[in-house]
Amino acid sequence: MIPLTAAEIAAATDGHLVPGTDPSLLVTAPASIDSRWIHPGGVFAALPGRRTDGHYHAPAALAAGAALVLASRPAAAPAVQVADVTRALGDLARHVAGRLPATVIGITGSNGKTTTKDLATQVLAHHGPVTATRGSFNNELGFPLTVLRATPDTRYLILEMGTRGRGHLSYLCGLVTPHVGVVLNVGTAHLGQYPDGQAGIAAAKSELLTGLPPADHGGLAILNADDPLVAAMAPLTPARTHWWSQHPHPTSVHAREVHVTPHGRACFTLHTPESTAPVTLRLTGRHHVGNALAVAALAHGLGLDHHTIAHALSAAEPTSGGRMQTIVRGDGVTLLHDAYNANPDSMAAALTTLSTMPARRRIAVLGEMADLGDHAAGAHHHLGVLAARADLDVLITIGTQTAPLIADAAGTGHSTLDIIAVPDSQDAHDVLSRILRPDDLVLIKASRAAHLEHLVTALSNR
Ligand code: ATP
Ligand code: MG
Repeated sequence: MIPLTAAEIAAATDGHLVPGTDPSLLVTAPASIDSRWIHPGGVFAALPGRRTDGHYHAPAALAAGAALVLASRPAAAPAVQVADVTRALGDLARHVAGRLPATVIGITGSNGKTTTKDLATQVLAHHGPVTATRGSFNNELGFPLTVLRATPDTRYLILEMGTRGRGHLSYLCGLVTPHVGVVLNVGTAHLGQYPDGQAGIAAAKSELLTGLPPADHGGLAILNADDPLVAAMAPLTPARTHWWSQHPHPTSVHAREVHVTPHGRACFTLHTPESTAPVTLRLTGRHHVGNALAVAALAHGLGLDHHTIAHALSAAEPTSGGRMQTIVRGDGVTLLHDAYNANPDSMAAALTTLSTMPARRRIAVLGEMADLGDHAAGAHHHLGVLAARADLDVLITIGTQTAPLIADAAGTGHSTLDIIAVPDSQDAHDVLSRILRPDDLVLIKASRAAHLEHLVTALSNR
C-alpha cells in the first residue's frame, strides 16, 4: 500500500472525515472488507453483505488494528464517510495507481484466468516483485483491493478481470488502466447472461483492449491467434499486439511437439522469434498449453529472456483448489479434482484430459453446468455426446435438472458405457464407494453451485 493520510483518502473518495478523525492520520496497510482479516494500519471498508453489514463490525475492525473505517453511514471515528463504499474503493485504487511505478497487467477470458494469472505471477517474479489478485477475486471489489495491496516496490501488478456483462471491464479499466491486456479466449461461460450470445461475450472482453494505451505509450495486447473471436479484436486496440498460438507461426510465440505425459502433464517446445526451449508443465491437461503460451507471450513482450520463461513455466506450481488437481489415494485410485467450476469448454477440456490418461477404468462424475440460460439443454446434451466419445468406462451424472440430459445423450447408441444417474452427491458417494477399484481414474467436475469438492473430500479420506 502507498501510504495515504485520512484527508487524502477523503479527497480521493469524495467523502468527508467523520468528526474526531485526525486528517493527518496515516494509513500504511492495504484495505480489508472483513473485520476478521484486518491488515494493521489499513482501511476497513464497511460493506453491506448478504448475511451481515460491515458497519456493525467497524468497532471490531478498529480493535483488530485498522487505522480507518470507510463507511456509507455515520460511523465512529476514525472514519471517512462516503456515498458508496465499493465506488470509494475504486476511487482509492485509481488515486493510488497514479503513483505506482508498476506495469499493470489485466487478464481476462472465459477460461483459465486464474491459472494464467498464477503462472504469470511465478514467471514474472524472475524479473521483479509482483502483486497479483488473490485467488479468483476478480470483480469490482477484488480489483481495487488488489491495487491497494501494491507497494512502491511492485514491478508488475497482475489483475484478473472477470466480466459480468457489457461495461464491466470498461468500468474496471476506468479505475486503473492496464498497460498490458491479455485476452485468453471467448468461450461459453455465463452464456445465459448475454442476450446476444458469444458475440456479446466477445464484446464484453474486448473492452480491456479498447482501454489500453497506444503502442507508443507502452500499450501491449497479448492475443490468442487460435481463437477467431479473440483474433478479431486486434483492430480494436491502439496497443501493440503480441500473438501466441498452438500452431507453428514464425512471428508469434508458439508451441510445437505438444504432448501429454501419462500423468497428464502438458509438454511442448516453446518457440519465440529468437529461440526454442522445452517446457514440461506441472499442470494437468493439454488445455493448459494455451494458458502457458499466453504467459510466455506476455513475458516475452515484457522483455524476459526465452530460457528464463521456459524454465519458470516448467517450475511453476499449479493453481490449487480443484482445478485438475490430482489426488492419489492409498488404494491406488486417482481422483482428478476439477470441481472448482464448470462450463461447456472446461468440461470438454477435462474429458479430453481424462480420455488421454492411462487407467484401469476411466470414470467421469459430472454435475450440472450453471448460468447457461436458454443454452442449458443443448449444452448438457452435447456434454453427454462428448462423454460417450471420451473412452470412458463409467459415467455418473449428478443432479435432477439438466444432468439427466447428459446421461440420456451419452446412452444413445453407446453399448459398453456404464451410465449411472443419481440425484445428489451423497448418492454418487455411495455408488463410488461400492465400485471403485485400484488404478481407477475418476474425474469429478460440475459448476460451483454443486459443491462437488465435498464429494472429493469424502472420497479422498481413504
Ligand atoms: P473463473 O471465471 O471462475 O474465475 P477462471 O477463468 O479464472 O475461472 P481457472 O480458475 O483458471 O479459470 O480454471 C477454471 C476451470 O477451467 C478449471 O476446471 C480448469 O481446468 C479449466 N481451464 C483452465 N484453462 C482452460 C482453458 N484454456 N480451456 C478450457 N478449460 C480451462
Ligand atoms: Mg478465476
